[in-house]
Amino acid sequence: MPVWDKSARIDGKFSKADFTFDRERNVYICPAGKELTHSGVIDQGRILPYRASRRDCTRCDLKPRCTTAATRKVSRDIDEDVRDYVRSLEGTDAFAQSCVERKKVEMRFAHMKRIHKLDRLRLRGLTGAKDEVLLTALAPSGWPSSSGNPQNRTRYRPSDQDQGTAKGHSRNNQ
Ligand code: SF4
Repeated sequence: MPVWDKSARIDGKFSKADFTFDRERNVYICPAGKELTHSGVIDQGRILPYRASRRDCTRCDLKPRCTTAATRKVSRDIDEDVRDYVRSLEGTDAFAQSCVERKKVEMRFAHMKRIHKLDRLRLRGLTGAKDEVLLTALAPSGWPSSSGNPQNRTRYRPSDQDQGTAKGHSRNNQ
């Protein structure tokens, strides 16, 4: 699955991609070659802020292209290494294959919600949910459905009893 990255800037300032992460020293290097360091604080449980020093930014000629704040900050997700790994897979054959297979799964979920009306689960618990989803996933291949082969669909045919009732009903109406 592609990494959802919202770090690009639309105001013309340097984006996160313009900063290089040095894993060994655990610092970001800015376009001016200065270090942005992490204080050890974790924001919102998963964001690691890296900040440039005020002294470096104040003297920097690139500051108008970098930030309007006193110092520049770059945020790093606590799982950024995993995100980097996934980014490195983009463009490979395996990644393209995964995208194709994910589309098939998405279609199944849409089918389950729209055709089989599985917009909420009726059975309780993890096991119940698992059983219900499995049965619904099997349904299109085994049961007649509105999306299946039209020749496999069963048509409603009134039984003799129904016809008798219908005749009786029409007689009563005469
Ligand atoms: S403003 Fe600060 S962070 Fe930005 S390029 Fe200059 S020194 Fe680096």
